[in-house]
Amino acid sequence: MIQPKMRDCLSIHPKDERLLLISQEIDCVKHSKDFVADVVRKMRLAMVDSGGVGIAAPQIGESYRIVIVEELIMINPTIKPFGDYRIIRDFEGCLSLPNQIHSIPRFDRIEVTYKTRDNFIKTEKLFGFSARIAQHEVDHLDGILIGVNHVERDTIQ
Ligand SMILES: [Zn+2]
Repeated sequence: MIQPKMRDCLSIHPKDERLLLISQEIDCVKHSKDFVADVVRKMRLAMVDSGGVGIAAPQIGESYRIVIVEELIMINPTIKPFGDYRIIRDFEGCLSLPNQIHSIPRFDRIEVTYKTRDNFIKTEKLFGFSARIAQHEVDHLDGILIGVNHVERDTIQ
């Protein structure tokens, strides 16, 4: 997720269909640590280069479930709201959709469970802007783009 200014380096074209795919889980048997490190390195480069605060692997054309949210690298992340959460609407930009801003409702607090690069399972609580970034990036792993196919979650079952 970014402010809508970007230099398109490693990111793929907004119309690239890889952005709409469901990404594959990283499997520690099938995917080496070096492979994951290489994808993460390219993601970080693209994120920093575009002034972003988060990025998902599909945005650089790698259809794997890896996201970076600020400083956190998360592999196979899953998220859910917790506690006394609320749904807050705010504006978001996206590295893959230059010059677009959309008002998107998101949970204000989430619990995210993910694997680290060393294969540890971690659970963290994220709030506010960090929670918003994580929801935006995890949406990318399911081929969901703001302003394209993001479905509003005004209610939750
Ligand atoms: Zn995005």
